[in-house]
Amino acid sequence: MPPVRAVVLRLGHRPERDKRVTTHVGLVARAFGAEEMLLCGRDAHVEESLDDVAMRWGGDFRLTVDASWKGEMVRWKERGGGVVHLTMYGSNLPDVIDEIRRSKEIMVVVGAEKVPAEVYELADWNVAVGNQPHSEVAALAVFLDRLFQGEELVREFEGGLKIVPSPRGKEVLYPENGLDEEEGGRDKEEGGDKEKGEEEDGDGGGALPGAEAGLLLWR
Ligand code: SAM
Repeated sequence: MPPVRAVVLRLGHRPERDKRVTTHVGLVARAFGAEEMLLCGRDAHVEESLDDVAMRWGGDFRLTVDASWKGEMVRWKERGGGVVHLTMYGSNLPDVIDEIRRSKEIMVVVGAEKVPAEVYELADWNVAVGNQPHSEVAALAVFLDRLFQGEELVREFEGGLKIVPSPRGKEVLYPENGLDEEEGGRDKEEGGDKEKGEEEDGDGGGALPGAEAGLLLWR
């Protein structure tokens, strides 16, 4: 893993409408190399979905709920970490990423709707992933990828299912003494937040024509 440490602070989660986006913020945080998501508030759906992914897919990603955004930002800075707030109004990413990378511990703050003005003041960097409105999920993915310079994409997650990269079909290795096929694999949707009518794993569903899914033992 890259030497930089990153945690993600999710601000302004509204349980009645942000379940899916906040779950995806957590999934992206985990998959793109952050070690923790701090959620301001709590939501059983988000917690269960992320726990489930961590259990099946391994690694040591943590979710902390009921975080106080101000307390977390202030303590992080007091301990010497840098705080990046992702906002379309900020400095554009390519102009500041080299400077940000010099800080070895980064908290990345992502909002939902309106972010308190104090967040802009407390942040060491207000950073735009392009100065156009889009999404916290996309902004976080691009930011973490630039922070870790792509190294996060080849990271191993210990103790869970492993995918064997394959040009066609699906090959999955199961931990020897862990999840069985039903618990861990092909019959379960990823992210735990599938909506009615969606495909099982969001990739068009089922094995590709002519491709056999290999079920191998991970030793
Ligand atoms: N007015 C918001 C802003 O300041 O970016 C857009 C709200 S958007 C629905 C929710 C979150 O997505 C924002 O709080 C921000 O973290 C992120 N976001 C959206 N567009 C972005 C961009 N171009 N660059 C960085 N972050 C962005």
